[in-house]
Amino acid sequence: MAFQPHGGVLKDLLARDASIASQLKDEAAALHEVVLTERQLCDLELIVNGGFSPLEGFMNQKDYTSIVESLRLADGTLFAMPITLDVSREEIDRKRITPGSRIALRDPRDDAPLAILAVEDIYKPDRVKEAVNVFGADDPAHPAVAYLRHSTHEWYVGGKLQAIQAPVHFDYVALRFTPSELRTHFRKLAWRKVVAFQTRNPMHRAHRELTIRAARQRQANVLIHPVVGLTKPGDVDHYTRVRVYEAIMAKYPHGMAQLALLPLAMRMAGPREAVWHAIIRKNFGATHFIVGRDHAGPGKNSQGKDFYGPYDAQEAVTQYRDELEIEMVPFQMMTYLPSTDEYQPVDSVPKGVETLDISGTELRRRLKTGAPIPDWFSYDAVVKTLRESYPPRTKQGFVIYMTGLHNCGKDIIARALQVALNQQGGRSVSLLLGEGIQEQRIGMPAGQREKCMQAVSFVAAELARAGAAVIAAPMAPKESIRASAQQIVLKYAGAGGNFFLVHMATPLEYCEKNDRAGVYSAVRKGELKGLPGVDEEYEPPSKAALTVDLTKQSIAEIVNSIVLLLETNALI
Ligand code: ADP
Repeated sequence: MAFQPHGGVLKDLLARDASIASQLKDEAAALHEVVLTERQLCDLELIVNGGFSPLEGFMNQKDYTSIVESLRLADGTLFAMPITLDVSREEIDRKRITPGSRIALRDPRDDAPLAILAVEDIYKPDRVKEAVNVFGADDPAHPAVAYLRHSTHEWYVGGKLQAIQAPVHFDYVALRFTPSELRTHFRKLAWRKVVAFQTRNPMHRAHRELTIRAARQRQANVLIHPVVGLTKPGDVDHYTRVRVYEAIMAKYPHGMAQLALLPLAMRMAGPREAVWHAIIRKNFGATHFIVGRDHAGPGKNSQGKDFYGPYDAQEAVTQYRDELEIEMVPFQMMTYLPSTDEYQPVDSVPKGVETLDISGTELRRRLKTGAPIPDWFSYDAVVKTLRESYPPRTKQGFVIYMTGLHNCGKDIIARALQVALNQQGGRSVSLLLGEGIQEQRIGMPAGQREKCMQAVSFVAAELARAGAAVIAAPMAPKESIRASAQQIVLKYAGAGGNFFLVHMATPLEYCEKNDRAGVYSAVRKGELKGLPGVDEEYEPPSKAALTVDLTKQSIAEIVNSIVLLLETNALI
């Protein structure tokens, strides 16, 4: 039956008197609390707003076991995914969480109390069984299995929720709808049939053609319903994607489509996930749901094979069609036919007709190199948005990290390199010299130099993330300091995570002989302590992108070799 939520009643736990929420908030202040993880937060949002109807809380053992074994809640209602609250034994004991107790669940971002959980039971799941039954294999190449093994606590706490408030979002507020709100919106627009489209990727022409085709086949409107909670690690961030979706909405026939964001934490569970997605879309008021090729696919397993068949998800949704009461719109892979300049599902392309496709990997390569992305594949506005988030290498930031003894010529080379890069133009150049960052101070207590160097690496990463050319010239006398710098830059600089270690291997004798400030002689006399190479070890790097030596090369030659290194890496 169209427009009915799953289980018949929308479990909108937020639909209650404001005074009740206020009483619950007061009660929560006095209760033991559990601070939610990012995934639990996503799950909680969809429990309290009714997106996971008929769930009213985190699953108790009976429901959990039944879901894992048979895709059904204990009362027999179809539901595909275990929705559980995992907590450590230590936290359970410390907070005296027992069946019958009440605990406040808090938002990890702002500490706000979101709901009170009336604890029904505490149980230890069989994680291997959960992995095998729900995700198809106990294989950590599956992101949800890896999550289960490494990021979940060993106990699950089940019970119903009483909502205090929904998690607050500051991004794209106008595009966020609860199921009740979206249902009201559809009524207002007089939409009788709505085809929902799930996605976790940027949308291009194939997706527009696919959704419009689905809508025309069913004489329906379109709900573009992308996931902005948690998706597959490595996916395009949701800010970029939402800008892409906004750009593509302008390409739909006027009034045909609506964009709404879904704060779901995906599990990439293919067939099970498709059934779950269908239930969620039904709760949000859709009457139809698109399932294409490899829906919510997790990629390859540890044997290099796909976890699921490309159309397993369609089969699973078909299997439960009578209970789902949302009609699946199945699609084969959409592909481009240059001869007629149109998209067609592969199964309807006549034999011998040429088709074109650009894979995700090829698209990423083109974004990286700045190679053209043709009109038949995407729209200018979409490509422009993606290029802003994935700048070509000539626009990416980078970090030249120079290490060497005191007075080995790092500073002079760094300054000369700054001049050379300024002359090139195109990037702002930042110089992080030892003297400016205090690291050079001789006699810094053990441990403090590492901390100081970490702070420098964070600054370097932030600057590189913003597209700057960063020249850092600390002594960085230890392998661990340099490794940590590289890790920080790779982790935080995003597209600017280009890190090059340059070893200034000027010999100690030269550094000491030309030390006009007299630091070496002061250390030799015992007036100062803690100078790498003299009374503290300097570990030469085992692996540097470039090794240079002021006694063998001129400053100009060294600068030129660094510029050539950047050129070889296509950064300039
Ligand atoms: P996910 O299924 O993990 O959310 P996508 O965002 O890539 O991943 O896909 C969203 C939906 O669109 C899925 O049902 C998928 O099968 C379908 N889809 C994506 N690209 C195509 C295509 N070229 N042809 C047909 N269906 C597609």
